[in-house]
Amino acid sequence: MDDETVDLLVVGGGMAGLSAAARVAAEGGSVVLVEKADRPGGSARFAGFVWTAPTVEELRRVNPDGDPELAAALLDGFAEGVEWIRSLGVECRPPVPVLGFGRGHQVDTNHYLDTCERLIRERGQQVLTGTRTTSLVVENGMVKGAVCLLPDGSERRIESRWTLLATGGFQGDRALRAEHVHPRAADIELRANPHSRGDGLALGRSAGADFGAKDAGFYGHLMPAGVSLADPARFVDLALYYSEHALLFDTTGERFVDETVGDHLTAMALLERPQARGLLVADARVHREWISASYVAGIPGVDKFQLCHRAGARSAVADSLADFASMPEEWGYPGATVRDRIADFNATVRSGGATTPDRLLDRQPLDEPPFYAVEAAPAITFTFGGLLIDAGAHALSADGDGAGRRRVPGQLVAGADAGGLYRRAYAGGLAPALVFGLAAARTALTESPADLAH
Ligand SMILES: Cc1cc2nc3c(=O)[nH]c(=O)nc-3n(C[C@H](O)[C@H](O)[C@H](O)COP(=O)(O)OP(=O)(O)OC[C@H]3O[C@@H](n4cnc5c(N)ncnc54)[C@H](O)[C@@H]3O)c2cc1C
Repeated sequence: MDDETVDLLVVGGGMAGLSAAARVAAEGGSVVLVEKADRPGGSARFAGFVWTAPTVEELRRVNPDGDPELAAALLDGFAEGVEWIRSLGVECRPPVPVLGFGRGHQVDTNHYLDTCERLIRERGQQVLTGTRTTSLVVENGMVKGAVCLLPDGSERRIESRWTLLATGGFQGDRALRAEHVHPRAADIELRANPHSRGDGLALGRSAGADFGAKDAGFYGHLMPAGVSLADPARFVDLALYYSEHALLFDTTGERFVDETVGDHLTAMALLERPQARGLLVADARVHREWISASYVAGIPGVDKFQLCHRAGARSAVADSLADFASMPEEWGYPGATVRDRIADFNATVRSGGATTPDRLLDRQPLDEPPFYAVEAAPAITFTFGGLLIDAGAHALSADGDGAGRRRVPGQLVAGADAGGLYRRAYAGGLAPALVFGLAAARTALTESPADLAH
């Protein structure tokens, strides 16, 4: 069955896709949103803070290798994005600090996502759930819609002036993780919705869009090693955010990263160590001040060590540093080395010296027994690498004739399907999905893809 041509076809109904589709519908445009899962929302249903760096300069400082044009566009569009959420009657609380350098608002994301979906339907536009997109319709290099497989097995060709890819990245696909993140990434746990498996990437590339830098990294957190994350409640409950105040040792018994700059950065660093696992050690002070504390204002603290222990994580409480020497052999860490390294670390920071690796932030010794040890491993939330875009969310392609990148007519990309914004650094996932989703809506409402055709 052939439809009329809609202004925007959205593939993927998470933060980016619902924002774009709702905005187009609110402005009186026509839109079809296709969602693979039975319910839209994606990983955004687990997220709570719309945040980013407070200025472009700060974003460039934490993320110097990201695309400067996208950094500026994110900051330019952030306030408008927050206003848009509020305009729908969804609460966006006053700003709080996030990850030390950032600022953002606690938002009832489920209320926002459901409100977007309702708005799309109320304006007479379509949301198709349980629907797979099998291919893009491409004519003379211009994307003109997609062919979808409906839940009843029938095929439907949806024609559109613009098509937005917003399937949420490729973290759900082991092979793509191994290819684009790290060979060891194939085996790490997924800390996100299970449906984002690189469909946007494959569809975009089939129409000429380019994938960005290979080793862009990923956003994730340290989680207890070997513990299943099949229950999404564990995504936050078991995340070892407190690692920023602890010490992390690899299987050779050495520290290898400044743990204090961010648990999400430590997760990336641990992936590159042998077996991608490490021993996270805290003392009684860290337990008191951080393990049981709130990570970000508004979220109640829980005793994560106890939760990990109950979930079956390899974990132990040691009454003294000396106990580390008798660490069970099957854990696979040189316990005496770990004991010595903690003692060395304490002596160095007490004397005001620089440890190796040095610690930028928390330089207090870990010397108050008991000691809390849990084995940690990185888990992936979303990939930073993706299809290249510009500030208007147009997909970019290399010309191949030396003329640089050109926009792929009819094709837009937003959210974690888009790459280039972050490179081995992170300043929010909801905010770019929101800002570039709204940018895609603006492009769809104000530009003609024919203007880009050759
Ligand atoms: C536990 C957790 C906590 C988080 N907390 C925060 C936070 O506080 N702040 C923050 O900024 N970020 C947070 N994030 C990250 C944030 O959720 C993501 O960055 C954001 O949701 C990305 O938006 P997106 O639209 O690209 O992807 P998603 O929101 O994941 O949406 C992608 C959608 O595409 C669908 N899809 C996939 N393939 C197809 C296909 N072929 N066809 C149709 N549909 C498809 C998926 O089912 C999904 O609904 C968190 C993530 C998790 C998992």
